Amino acid sequence: MARRKKIYEGKAKTLFEGPEPGTIVQYFKDDATAFNAEKKDVIEGKGVLNNLLSEYFMVGLGQIGVPTHFLKRLNMREQLVRSCEIVPLEVIVRNYAAGSMSKRLGIDEGTQLPRPIVEYCLKDDALGDPLVSEEHIAAFGWASQQDMEDILSLTLRVNDFMSGVMLAVGIRLIDFKIEFGRVYDGDFQRLVLADEISPDSCRLWDIETGRKLDKDVFRRDLGSLTDAYSEVARRLGVMPNTPPTMGKPTLVN
Ligand code: 5GP
Repeated sequence: MARRKKIYEGKAKTLFEGPEPGTIVQYFKDDATAFNAEKKDVIEGKGVLNNLLSEYFMVGLGQIGVPTHFLKRLNMREQLVRSCEIVPLEVIVRNYAAGSMSKRLGIDEGTQLPRPIVEYCLKDDALGDPLVSEEHIAAFGWASQQDMEDILSLTLRVNDFMSGVMLAVGIRLIDFKIEFGRVYDGDFQRLVLADEISPDSCRLWDIETGRKLDKDVFRRDLGSLTDAYSEVARRLGVMPNTPPTMGKPTLVN
């Protein structure tokens, strides 16, 4: 097979040039990082699970009319996506207090918020993705006023969809991070949901037990990350036929 041109290697994914102009192959790695890559590990099977879960959410969001970069899944680790110009913002939605918000504002983790709260962080690893206001975004030209209006309405739709899908399988969507990209159709520019949606970028708590089913399991050393992500995939019916943690095949007569 011809070697593909690598475009970018991130912490959890590698991007390669796609087969058609304007397309990209997104490869999901098993690498897990936390605290701005200060904590690292390789979690066997994580890439497969995130590829399948992200496909599931992106397809569902597409079906309710949220434009996404997703085109199709190619195999267990790769998906074909539309190439887009990433808006340099991490858009975070919080339904319950947790993580950095709890730390910053002294609100107990798990406290239900009076309404979903949307935050923006500048995508800049060297600066640790700092929280920014819409004033900063406008003043520094990271996104236009129209972009911000579209981002907010799409983000709230993503939150409603994801909260409902999770609730249906007994999981509470505490918070999540998404990213947007710009695609150009001739002279027209539109925004699409980009990157991925997976337990790497969400907080997911079992409603009955409070068990964490997301990357906090890795961040906080709470057990097996593959077990947690597999549980989410199993409940949503997207578990691969071959368990990703399975070792070498055993010969049977
Ligand atoms: P927090 O600000 O509390 O650390 O994170 C809020 C939510 O956004 C969590 O669900 C967390 O997983 C997600 N999030 C924040 N920053 C990142 C990031 O750089 N990468 C990923 N994958 N998720 C992030």
